[in-house]
Amino acid sequence: MSPPAPRPALRLIKGTLDEAPGWSWFCGHCAAAPSRQLVSPLTRVCGSCGMGLLLETRSDAAPGSDDAFLVIDSRLTVQAVSRDAERLLGINEDEMVDGPVTQFLGAADAEAREPEEFLYLLHRASTGADELHSVFVRPRNAFGVRIVARIAPCGPPRAALVVLGRQAPRSGLRVVSDD
Ligand SMILES: [Zn+2]
Repeated sequence: MSPPAPRPALRLIKGTLDEAPGWSWFCGHCAAAPSRQLVSPLTRVCGSCGMGLLLETRSDAAPGSDDAFLVIDSRLTVQAVSRDAERLLGINEDEMVDGPVTQFLGAADAEAREPEEFLYLLHRASTGADELHSVFVRPRNAFGVRIVARIAPCGPPRAALVVLGRQAPRSGLRVVSDD
C-alpha cells in the first residue's frame, strides 16, 4: 500500500495579507463610518453630519471620530478637514480648503528632511500608491511640536488622507513604513 499523498502545507504567506488590508468608508469631516450598502455614487454626502463627503481608504488607516485628519489632493491642496483637525490647527475648514497643505503643516524640525518626505508621500498617496506611511510634521504656527502624520490613499476622487496623531518623543524613526 502506497503512503497517502502528502498534504499541501497550509500557511500564511508573509506579506500577502499586509498588502491587502481591505478598504473602509469614512466621512471626510466627522469620520462617521457608513455601512457599505448605504454608499452609492449618487449619495456621497455623510448622513451623520450632512457636511462631509464619504471617502474610502485602507481599513488600517481609516480615522476615528476623535482623529484630526485632512484630505489632500494631488496638487497638494487641502480638500477636506476633520473637526478635530480644525481644532488642532486652530483654523476653520473654510479657510483651509483649496489652500496649499504647506500653509498649515510643516517640517517637525527646521533642519530635517521631513518637508520633502512629507510632500513626496502625499504626492505618492494621491496619485496611486496604496502604501501606508508615517512621518513627523508640525502645525505651521507651532514650533517644537512633533506630530505623527499617517499618510494613506483615499477617494474617490483619488487623494491622500493625513491622520494626525499625538505628539511624539523627539527620538524615533523619521519615516516608518508599515512593512
Ligand atoms: Zn460626516
